Amino acid sequence: MIKNKKNYATFMFIPESQSTVKSYRIPVWFPKFVTVSIILLILASAASFSILSSLKLQYEISKSEIGKLTSINGSQKIEIEKLQKNSEEVQKQLEENSRMLEEVKKAVGITPASNDKSTDSSPVSSDNSASVSKLTENSSPDMSAKIESIESDFASLVDKIASQKQEINESIGPIKSKLAYLMAKPSIMPVTASITAGFGYRKNPFTSRGSEFHKGTDFAASYGQTAVATGDGIVMFSGWNAGYGRMVIISHGYGLTTLYAHNSKLLVKQGDKVKKGQAITKVGNTGRSTGTHLHYEVKLNGKNVNPSTYFN
Ligand SMILES: [Zn+2]
Repeated sequence: MIKNKKNYATFMFIPESQSTVKSYRIPVWFPKFVTVSIILLILASAASFSILSSLKLQYEISKSEIGKLTSINGSQKIEIEKLQKNSEEVQKQLEENSRMLEEVKKAVGITPASNDKSTDSSPVSSDNSASVSKLTENSSPDMSAKIESIESDFASLVDKIASQKQEINESIGPIKSKLAYLMAKPSIMPVTASITAGFGYRKNPFTSRGSEFHKGTDFAASYGQTAVATGDGIVMFSGWNAGYGRMVIISHGYGLTTLYAHNSKLLVKQGDKVKKGQAITKVGNTGRSTGTHLHYEVKLNGKNVNPSTYFN
């Protein structure tokens, strides 16, 4: 009891109006405890305040960062859409280029066998383009997935451009040589006139008895009408020949020569380079001729062939 009493303190509370005195017995450690508690509370709330204000600052910063990111995100989305559109445009252009190349090859008569081969080996085919656009369409709305899809689109486009470039480079040689042949080939009529005698055996026009081999084609052109070179070439002969009268012979290369006979006037001389359609003679009635006409011959490797088989 005595020991216990030492650990306690008694508070006396004496109100003015009342006679009763109230007394409270409290443990002696209690005031110290209260003081320490109050100090701790003050420290804790100060710490909380500083944490709260720093959190608030962080929140403000984050909010503005998010705002910035959202606007960056928005502009990135526009950029990505632009890139996708560009990639589709390049894809379309590549397909168009391939189509044009095929058309040029077809026009100059480059065999479809090589076309098939090049189409098979070329990555610039409609199948591949479909897969690329599918990839773009199917890409998830997630930005990084979209970027990856665009990256792969562009990588595939770069490959396609390289392969198309190679295909064009490989085609230039054959196309050029084919064009040179087509320009040299005697494929047009030497005069605009009707054919009066074709290639082959016919009744002798001079004696009207027996037959002779007609080595060319006769055109009922009028006197002085212009005759043209039927293909690119070099004039091998321009002058007089007893039977053919005033005559021009053109060498076209590829073993092909053409001959224009019975002319009244010669417009080119030996060694001249002539172009398909270029004026070379004026039609006449010179040499062994029954009347004004153009006698026209085509020779392949020195042998007369039917000129009609070369006309377009
Ligand atoms: Zn003839």
